[in-house]
Amino acid sequence: MTATPAPADATAPEKNDFIRQIIREDLASGKHAAVRTRFPPEPNGYLHIGHAKSICLNFGIGQEFGGLVNLRFDDTNPAKEDPEYVEAIKEDVRWLGFEWAELRHASDYFEVFYRSALKLVEDGKAYVCDLTAEQVREYRGTLTEPGRNSPFRDRSVEENLDLFRRMRAGEFPDGARTLRAKIDMASGNINLRDPAIYRIKHVEHQNTGNAWPIYPMYDYAHCLSDALEGITHSLCTLEFEDHRPLYDWCVDHVDLVRNPQLYQPLVDAGFSVPAAKPRQIEFSRLNINYTVMSKRKLLALVDEGLVSGWDDPRLPTLQGLRRRGCPPAALRLLADRVGISKQNSLIDFSVLEGCIRETMDSANARRLAVIDPLKLVITNLPAGHAESLTFSNHPKNAEFGEREVPFSPELWIEREDFMEVPPKGFHRLVPGGEVRLRGVGIVKCDEVVKDGETVVEVRCTLDPDTRAGLPGADRKVKGTIHWVSAAHAIEAEVRLYDRLFSVPDPDKDEAGKTYRDYLNPESVRVVRGYIEPSAAALAPETSVQFERLGFFTADRRDHAPGKPVFNRTVTLRDTWAKA
Ligand code: ATP
Ligand code: MG
Repeated sequence: MTATPAPADATAPEKNDFIRQIIREDLASGKHAAVRTRFPPEPNGYLHIGHAKSICLNFGIGQEFGGLVNLRFDDTNPAKEDPEYVEAIKEDVRWLGFEWAELRHASDYFEVFYRSALKLVEDGKAYVCDLTAEQVREYRGTLTEPGRNSPFRDRSVEENLDLFRRMRAGEFPDGARTLRAKIDMASGNINLRDPAIYRIKHVEHQNTGNAWPIYPMYDYAHCLSDALEGITHSLCTLEFEDHRPLYDWCVDHVDLVRNPQLYQPLVDAGFSVPAAKPRQIEFSRLNINYTVMSKRKLLALVDEGLVSGWDDPRLPTLQGLRRRGCPPAALRLLADRVGISKQNSLIDFSVLEGCIRETMDSANARRLAVIDPLKLVITNLPAGHAESLTFSNHPKNAEFGEREVPFSPELWIEREDFMEVPPKGFHRLVPGGEVRLRGVGIVKCDEVVKDGETVVEVRCTLDPDTRAGLPGADRKVKGTIHWVSAAHAIEAEVRLYDRLFSVPDPDKDEAGKTYRDYLNPESVRVVRGYIEPSAAALAPETSVQFERLGFFTADRRDHAPGKPVFNRTVTLRDTWAKA
């Protein structure tokens, strides 16, 4: 082994998974002078947290090894694709903190794919087949039985060229014929049993309109796109492992590197085409419990109105995570923590929450808020008394500075911080008991005002010797609670989010149930609370820790200064571990 390039962030430990090891070897041996990767989403839905793993891997490698990374829309399946998704995907990649070298579409290469297919036909490596989809299945054989040759397999090159050109001219209806690679119907790998590489589909395409009545299949288009873009390491998830021989077959038999005439139209159109032979490497998908991640299921949740939209803060979509308040750095941390391997594993939802907590703890200021308010009145201060108290914005980082918090004799405290009949070990406020009001001093509860069974107010005296800054401030009491000044606090809508599903594996389809039956009825609760004035003034998407309550983020769409709406991004502790 020889020298390795310095990592992008010299303070972070160098990542050394098997893919990065391969890349280091390829650079050291001179196989490649530079690396090039790509992130290739199909624009048929919004990106989710699984895609974040792939984005962090591809773009992370670009940063660490000084390579270029393309964003390529794998838009070969026009029926399910939409420009709305294209825009959202671009926004999500940038939000995660990455920028692509070039934006490409597989559809940019349709002409090259077509010419390449003509070359395969001319070389006797592809043929037009008239079997129906059902017949193709019959002929394909099974895992234990070889397939049978299509009766159309031995058509002459001339006939194949004529038929394929007429497919392209739009002469035949959908499904009438396919173009198939001529490989081996007896192969142990079913992907190599003369796979279709073109199908007829008279469907408008989001990028090319009605220009094409035929569309290339994924396995044929993907590898050639990689080759055209000079992708050195084509990183994909494990389910493509069995497709790798076909990937290599297409790359080798089309051989763009030695046939530049095939991509001349692209060059003429101004594209740079650093054609090279790419290598596919597979890694394991990210799976997380208590959620679903397939685009099909996410789409169903949205379409059936089970969530409020693609950016519902309970969804694992990047738009949902963003709206909930998850910082992009937390997803990058998750990707690092989960790492890259060939081992499929299921990550506990608490690992994601831990990454969010850790990131937000160091990145976000503290504020005071009360989300289930109970009135506390200090009776030994004159009514109309008002003070401004100085609070530090972060307990561990003075750079966050300080702020002024208004204080007056009428406060809101959390209802759960007072108990008339406390259980053993309850250290907060009880009748006749004392508690510290954060940043103020020690109060004693003298009187409880009730309306029927409901406590509506607790009346307290403040021990003047325990005010912050005085020698008596050190006097010990067991509990400290937070508060906001009733006269100054601003009413806020607070959305308390929790896991969308109440079981770890909502994908299990047992006893006729589907993931829809496992939705967590407590996954969102909307309450009205009170927040200190400085929190109400924050811009949308600003996150804070409401002390003792959790990390919250001003809603991206509904929050406005003066009309605050906060989403609970994550609680301060893992409340599911106990349950
Ligand atoms: P889904 O199965 O959720 O519909 P997909 O694989 O069809 O997703 P693509 O748009 O084709 O979605 O994916 C783009 C890239 O993201 C691919 O390289 C794919 O392998 C990768 N990817 C998708 N899901 C995951 C995941 N859970 N973990 C890691 N990478 C993923
Ligand atoms: Mg896919």
